[in-house]
Amino acid sequence: MKKFRCADIVPGCNAAVRTKTIDEVVAQAGGHLTSVHGLASGPDLSYRVRIASPAKVSSGRRCAAPSHSL
Ligand SMILES: [Zn+2]
Repeated sequence: MKKFRCADIVPGCNAAVRTKTIDEVVAQAGGHLTSVHGLASGPDLSYRVRIASPAKVSSGRRCAAPSHSL
């Protein structure tokens, strides 16, 4: 279960989202933030939702290799 409180991004808003996965949190919170608060959707908003949510991001791992030639 992942949780997101809108107040973490928009102080004073009581809206909260509770879903099974972080991706659903991002989708639902993003919809709320854009439609209710008029924020611009995009990677920046998704990032803010992800860091506001206490859940760790498990998908989209970065390349951890210290060095590799292309
Ligand atoms: Zn809100």
